Amino acid sequence: MRRRLPSRLPTGRTIAEVRGVSLALGGTPILDGVSLSVRTGEVLALVGPNGAGKSTLLGVLSGDHAPDHGAVFLAGEPLNHWSPVETAMRRSVMLQQATISFPFTVADLVAMGRAPWYATTRADDDERAVQAAFETADITEFRHRVFSSLSGGERARVSLARALAQESQLLLLDEPTAALDLHHQEAVLQLARKSAAGDDAVVVVVHDLNLAAGYADRVAVLSHGKVVADGNPRKVLTAELLSEVYRHPVEVWPHPGSGAPVILPRR
Ligand code: ADP
Ligand code: MG
Repeated sequence: MRRRLPSRLPTGRTIAEVRGVSLALGGTPILDGVSLSVRTGEVLALVGPNGAGKSTLLGVLSGDHAPDHGAVFLAGEPLNHWSPVETAMRRSVMLQQATISFPFTVADLVAMGRAPWYATTRADDDERAVQAAFETADITEFRHRVFSSLSGGERARVSLARALAQESQLLLLDEPTAALDLHHQEAVLQLARKSAAGDDAVVVVVHDLNLAAGYADRVAVLSHGKVVADGNPRKVLTAELLSEVYRHPVEVWPHPGSGAPVILPRR
């Protein structure tokens, strides 16, 4: 089978886009006319309440869900023009729940991230990419452990390492920080920034609005299947919008050092 290898896009280019996407699951509308574009060199944080449709939207961007209406583009072409392997060369996904029942070791799982490059010139990078992913995700010490024996936070870092080892230009991360301690939360967002500095595009679903405020170039707020705001964190993360979307009063203060918004629920 002919596989078209990707060429890296320069910074500031649209690498993924959804236009007017609607999707119902089990008869319930989940996404309702969503348009969003993702550019190289940027960290885009996707935030919103539980059930807003964030994971579903990430699934549409990754090609795991086909929308009922609307269009999805990846690397300049309609997503469904790419074969599964060609898609995997262009985007990596870290899912919210990694359920792995076979007793794979950590090293096995991270190496699976290299599968799209099998029998291509880029297979020469396999060892280096896996090694780099181990180090970046800070999992070298448990590389020989069986995945199912790890804690939730350790598993999350392994799933992240697998996505990193894939070395595609678009990283789609679904709540990568949810199970992590403070050190590793910061490390994941710093890694997102570093990837974006190297012209990758990173879409990251986060619940911690202060992580979004501190690290994202752009924040998109999803509520009831609609994008209700999309832009610079300082413009988007306002007390008014957040209080309404989260149905809880919040205050927003400028960070004394950086000026980035600091979001505090009123108590
Ligand atoms: P989020 O990631 O923002 O928390 P999701 O995208 O996972 O939200 O889900 C959005 C909504 O869609 C939720 O209310 C969820 O229960 C519902 N949903 C997800 N998958 C299905 C499905 N297969 N059938 C019916 N409803 C679903
Ligand atoms: Mg989710």
